[in-house]
Amino acid sequence: MLDPFATDPWYQPESLDEALDIYEAREARFQAQGEPRLDLRGRRNVYVCEDVPYHVFVTIDRDAGVTPFLKTCPFCGGTAQSRCYPRNIPDPELHPEWAARYEWYRPERGEAVDPQLFNHIAKGGLIFREIDPDAVSIGKWLQ
Ligand SMILES: [Zn+2]
Repeated sequence: MLDPFATDPWYQPESLDEALDIYEAREARFQAQGEPRLDLRGRRNVYVCEDVPYHVFVTIDRDAGVTPFLKTCPFCGGTAQSRCYPRNIPDPELHPEWAARYEWYRPERGEAVDPQLFNHIAKGGLIFREIDPDAVSIGKWLQ
C-alpha cells in the first residue's frame, strides 16, 4: 500500500479501517527500515489544565503510539498540557488518587470513532478514553 502522507500530510482516511490499514503499512515499513518506534506502554502521564491549575489528571498508555501534548481538560473543557511522562508520579499503590483514570489506546476495527481522529490514528496516534467514570480532579501537580 502506498503511504498517502508521503504526498499529503493532511490526507483524511474515509474510515477507521482505512486509517488502520495505513497505520499497519507504515509501521511495517518503519520496522523494516529499523526506525525506533515510540513505545510507552504501561507508562503514566500527567496533564495539567492551563485554565484551572488544580485540574490535574493521570493517563496511561495501553498501546505503543503517539499522544498529543495538548488535551481538552475533562473537568472544564479548557486546555491541559502534558507533563511528558514524569518519573515522579506518586505510586498508586500508596496513593490511589494518582492511579490513571484515563487511557490512551489504539481503537479496534469496527469501533465507533470520531472521523476527525482518522488522520491521527493513521499516523500512529492513540485515542483517549475514561477508565473510571467517577474520576475527580486530584489536586495540584507540584513540579
Ligand atoms: Zn480544567
